[in-house]
Amino acid sequence: MGTRATLVTYDARRARALARLDRILEALDAAERELSTWRPESVVSQLNRQPVGVPLALPRWTCDAIREVSRWHAETRGAFDPTVGRLVAAWGIAAGGRLPAPAELAEARRLTGLGTLHFDARTCEVARARDVEVDTGGFGKGAALDRAAAAASDGHPWLVDLGGQVMVSGTPPDARGWQVLVAHPEARDQPVLGLSISRGSLATSGGSERDVQVGGVRVGHILDPRTGRPASFRGSVTVWHSSGLVADILSTALFVMGPAEGLPWAEAHDIAVCYLTSEGHGPRTAVQVQASPAFARRFPDRRRLWPSVERIGYFPEGRGISR
Ligand code: ADP
Ligand code: MG
Repeated sequence: MGTRATLVTYDARRARALARLDRILEALDAAERELSTWRPESVVSQLNRQPVGVPLALPRWTCDAIREVSRWHAETRGAFDPTVGRLVAAWGIAAGGRLPAPAELAEARRLTGLGTLHFDARTCEVARARDVEVDTGGFGKGAALDRAAAAASDGHPWLVDLGGQVMVSGTPPDARGWQVLVAHPEARDQPVLGLSISRGSLATSGGSERDVQVGGVRVGHILDPRTGRPASFRGSVTVWHSSGLVADILSTALFVMGPAEGLPWAEAHDIAVCYLTSEGHGPRTAVQVQASPAFARRFPDRRRLWPSVERIGYFPEGRGISR
C-alpha cells in the first residue's frame, strides 16, 4: 500500500515470536493482494478495470470491508466515500497537486459517489454503474491491521505500525500499555500528546505539512466528497477504535467534517476523537487540543508534551473545560 510496516512482539520463546510475526506479515500481504491499488492484480484494481455494469464477485474479506465502509459512508453522511478516485486524480493528489478546470471537476464529480457502485452484500457481487474508481487510501491500512490482528492473536503482546496507524494487543512486559506519540499538526517530529494503549487502533489523518498551494487553493490529500474540493480543515485528527478499519475510516471522515461538525458527530456516536489545531503557522506554535468525551475517558493519563490548550466535549455556546 505504498507504506512501511513495523512489527513488535514479546515472547519468552523466540520461535513462537517469529511465527507470530510471520503470520502478521502473511495477513498484511493477503490484505494487499485484495485491496492495494498499488498492485495491478489486486481485487480492487480488477474492480476498477471491470467493464461498467458487469458484476465482479468479491472474496469474502473484501466484501466484509466494503460492507463496513458503506455503513460508515451512510453514518458520516457522505464525508467518507471510497469512490473518490476520479477526484483524487483531478486534483493531482498523488502528483504534487493541481487545479482542475471546471469541466474536468464536474466530470470527476459525476464519476464519484458510492451510489454509483452497485453492491449486493448478500452475494458479495459489485458492479460499477459508471466508470468510477475505488480508492482504498482512506481505509485499506486499517482493514489490513484488523486482518493482522485476527492472525496474530494468541494472547501474547504485539504492535503493528502501518504507515503511522498503530494497532496493538496486550502490553509489553512490565508496562501498562504501548506509548504512542501524536505529532504536532505542522511538524511531524514534534510530539504533542503521549497516549498509552493496550488494545485497538489509533489512526491519525492530516498534518498539513504535506499540503501544497496551487493557484491560491490549498490542496491537501483529503477531499470533501460532498463538494468535490479539498477539505478545508488545517490540523490533524486522531481516532481510537477497537477496529483498525473503523479508526482509519473515521480519522479521514472526521478530518473532512472538521471540529465544528465532527465534535458533535463524535459525541453523538460515542467516538473517541481528538483534533489538534496549530494556533499559528509553522512548527513552533502552541496547539489547541479538542477531544470528544469518549477520547477523554479512554485516555485519562494522556500526557501533554508541547504547549497546548485542551477542551473536552462540544459546547454549542462555545464554552469548554480548559485544563
Ligand atoms: P493516510 O493514508 O495518509 O494515513 P487517510 O487515512 O486520511 O490518510 O487517507 C487519505 C487517503 O484517502 C487519500 O490519500 C485518498 O486516497 C483517500 N481519500 C481522500 N479523501 C477521502 C474521503 N473523503 N473519503 C475516503 N477516502 C478519501
Ligand atoms: Mg483513513
